[in-house]
Amino acid sequence: MFTVSNDKKINQLGITKIVKNINLVDFLNEVYSYSDNILCPSHAIDISNASIIQNKCISCGLCWLLTNDVISFDQNYNENDFMDFCKKNKMFLYAWLTLVLKECSGIEISSSGYSRTKRIPLIVSEKPHLIHIISVCLSSKNIEKAYAEIDDTIDLSKTELRSYSIKKIIIIVDFDEEYLTFLNNFQDCIFLDAKKVLKSVLLNNCRSISKLINLSEC
Ligand code: SF4
Repeated sequence: MFTVSNDKKINQLGITKIVKNINLVDFLNEVYSYSDNILCPSHAIDISNASIIQNKCISCGLCWLLTNDVISFDQNYNENDFMDFCKKNKMFLYAWLTLVLKECSGIEISSSGYSRTKRIPLIVSEKPHLIHIISVCLSSKNIEKAYAEIDDTIDLSKTELRSYSIKKIIIIVDFDEEYLTFLNNFQDCIFLDAKKVLKSVLLNNCRSISKLINLSEC
């Protein structure tokens, strides 16, 4: 459960910024431009009353992670509320991750090739030359499609990415254990279970991509 611990600083909660809508070359060269992003995805922070509206809170933890001198967390959270929200709004998980991770990351990064442009939903850079391309898949049934999308993105961007090592990551929101052996068909891809990702962030204070991979694999 998330609660306000310092009502004098409640005004600090509101808008945050994320790297969004820039082209891949700028992202790789660290020429960032930022977009405003509302901190609480479910509008559960009541600033005028300095409180969290508990039945609106989806346990994303952003308010606590980004301003832990204002918000407290007692280690109890509702995994289902978070997952339900992600199922309705897949793009939220990308924005959430880019705010959670401490490495440079950006969402909706555009890449052009073969006379077409594609948007990379989430890219995370781990210096000096490692890039993670991340795709979210709502159910285990869509794994193949998500994998093909990542491969297409890499092929389209091969000129820009030629001097980088690339890790392909798929986060599955509703992971079905029956698909565990099926994942072996994609040996060069890392699969993360969204429930484990949330747990790693909230309970293990895991905010680096490599730790998240270690703790959250399917
Ligand atoms: S944990 Fe997430 S949903 Fe809940 S109040 Fe904080 S920012 Fe809003």
